[in-house]
Amino acid sequence: MAKFPERAKVVIIGQGGIVGASVAHHLIERGWDDIVGIDKSAIPTDVGSTAHASDFCFNTMHDQMTIFTTKYSIDFYDRMGRYERIGGLEVARVGDDERMRELERRVASGKAFGNRVELITPAQAKARFPLLEESMIQGALWDPDAGLVKPRSQMVAGELVDAAVATGKLRSIANTACTGLRIENGRIQGVETTRGYIAADHVVVCAGLWGRLIAGMAGEDLPIMPVDHPLTFFKPYLEFAGTGKDIGYPLLRDQGNSAYLRDTGDPKTPEGGQIEWGYYEEKNPRMCHPRDLLEKEQARLSPSQRDLELEQIMEPLERAIELTPILAELGYDEKHSFNGLLQVTVDGNPSIGESSKVRGLWYAEAVWVKDAPGVGKLVADWMTDGFTHLDHARIDVARTYPYQQEEQYIHDRCYEGAFKIYNPPVHNREPYSAGRGIFKSPFYEREKALGAYFMELSGWERAHGYASNEHLLEVYGDRVPVRDNEWDNRHFWRVSNAEHLKMSEDVGMINVSHFAEIDVVGPDAADLLEYICVAKVGGDTPVGKGIYTHFLDAKGGVRADLTVLRLGQDHYRVVDRADAGHRDLTWIRRMALGPGARVEVTDTTTQYGCLRCVGSQRPYHDPENCRRARGLDERELPVCGPAQPDDQGCAGAGLPHLVRRRAGLGAALQI
Ligand SMILES: Cc1cc2nc3c(=O)[nH]c(=O)nc-3n(C[C@H](O)[C@H](O)[C@H](O)COP(=O)(O)OP(=O)(O)OC[C@H]3O[C@@H](n4cnc5c(N)ncnc54)[C@H](O)[C@@H]3O)c2cc1C
Repeated sequence: MAKFPERAKVVIIGQGGIVGASVAHHLIERGWDDIVGIDKSAIPTDVGSTAHASDFCFNTMHDQMTIFTTKYSIDFYDRMGRYERIGGLEVARVGDDERMRELERRVASGKAFGNRVELITPAQAKARFPLLEESMIQGALWDPDAGLVKPRSQMVAGELVDAAVATGKLRSIANTACTGLRIENGRIQGVETTRGYIAADHVVVCAGLWGRLIAGMAGEDLPIMPVDHPLTFFKPYLEFAGTGKDIGYPLLRDQGNSAYLRDTGDPKTPEGGQIEWGYYEEKNPRMCHPRDLLEKEQARLSPSQRDLELEQIMEPLERAIELTPILAELGYDEKHSFNGLLQVTVDGNPSIGESSKVRGLWYAEAVWVKDAPGVGKLVADWMTDGFTHLDHARIDVARTYPYQQEEQYIHDRCYEGAFKIYNPPVHNREPYSAGRGIFKSPFYEREKALGAYFMELSGWERAHGYASNEHLLEVYGDRVPVRDNEWDNRHFWRVSNAEHLKMSEDVGMINVSHFAEIDVVGPDAADLLEYICVAKVGGDTPVGKGIYTHFLDAKGGVRADLTVLRLGQDHYRVVDRADAGHRDLTWIRRMALGPGARVEVTDTTTQYGCLRCVGSQRPYHDPENCRRARGLDERELPVCGPAQPDDQGCAGAGLPHLVRRRAGLGAALQI
């Protein structure tokens, strides 16, 4: 028996799941070696979600990152010969116009991203999926690239690990649990396991449902949470007997009923001869903190499969029978039906990337099967190059502020996310009702008195306009774009646009106290920011000056846009977008790491209010005057704005050449 490894360049925790397997594959593809993958159970997993996922892949989301990870994954499975591109339908029931509009939007998004999705009629849907009651639907989306990982993602995980082991670059060790992380000076040192310690330069947590427990070993938490997902089976379904197929008809999603369905093909295939029906609970999702997961020996089926009472799903099942009557014709297989645990997240996005607290500790958590190879590629690229080819801000684990790592917050937001997995369609401006009112600016009461229309951003109650300004619609109403479509108009207030127009012509003050403020103080502060920022902020930059600038990644891509105020020779305040603040704070801290760096980086957001002065559009350039004032010859175009002191001479009221000019960034106010 091979000796237990004492050290490795990379340790993957959760090697048996589809995510751990995909990460190992892609790390090797990017040139990594000396990788050790451990799993507390079998490899491929027999206890994780991958062991019993439905393995549907639909690429009908609205955001570029998910479209990428899903498309990449589908093509990856396909190249392995492990994908059945059987196609998939998403239907809108008669009367469910909101779902129909969502299907239209999904087609629009899909087309924008180059997918082959289209809308089809009920008759066309019936022709593709004969089990459908045609009169029940008003239309459907057809995704010809939707399909199934076949025969199971669990098998794919095993094949990926075997192939990686065969390269000699991965050692895969089953039945070995991570029991602790060794961390020194903010950097990972290695992994304690049930079989001994493995020193490591990098650790990647791919522990699925158990990920938060591993994060806890590093003194942090992840904004994700397991939830029950009923998966049921009906049999015998013999339509595809003798075909050898894993699936015969396309996949069906009935999101208006938060449900999906598929046949499992030839009864001779491992799980064949059945109809599988899955459901996401809309009313009372059953959350499960990872510490309450059972051990393998305690669970009837497995730790990620909990018992299911038929009562729990009766109502949606009855609705499903209306759409696909076959369910009532077959026998319900109670023994094999279960509540499978999968993860929901506080903002609908997974937790990927390097820990904000511990260098070298990476996460790939809350990832669906349909995205796993794509995420494996992102993680490998990120670890290798320091960046990914797409902006990863929305999935970056470092995006979460400390308040978003509190257990109650995680529970409440995930609970809310859990009943919106399928239904209703979630608007991109849709406010959460949980986790509100965490931070209020010093102007909150005044804003309330002005009739503020509050939305939430990064824990802050942020006014999107004031009822006291409604009168501005009388002046600007005809210039506020009309949003005929209810969806475009949802969570949008016309007064905000009128306020905006007023400020374009005049001057106004906006409360941006939700902006993140990060103080960078110490003898090395100027050097540090000079190194990170594109614009000059150090050297002879005068105290009191504010500079709008960027942070770049290693490839020169923009990773942050923000303003740096020099408050003293050795004192800077970075003023940043609320949703980007924690990532950028983490970035500054990472850049500041190093022996003896004499700089302190502190999140001071809650210590200061922040006001922004915005204005005005004024005529100030006459090209001819400007040309003369600057001594330019006739072929040269005058440079128009921002205004320079010498522009005063060439300003001319009433001239047609207008330049919109921002009056300046509001300084952060100490209160
Ligand atoms: C019923 C059901 C249906 C689903 N259907 C679909 C679908 O149709 N399409 C889709 O895309 N997704 C689907 N999913 C979601 C999908 O299954 C998961 O998102 C995915 O399998 C997660 O993979 P993973 O590798 O992150 O986690 P897992 O598969 O759970 O693997 C995690 C591994 O970590 C190991 N581990 C945990 N703790 C430790 C430790 N301390 N030390 C060492 N190892 C540890 C575990 O043993 C396990 O092997 C479904 C999920 C369920 C439950």
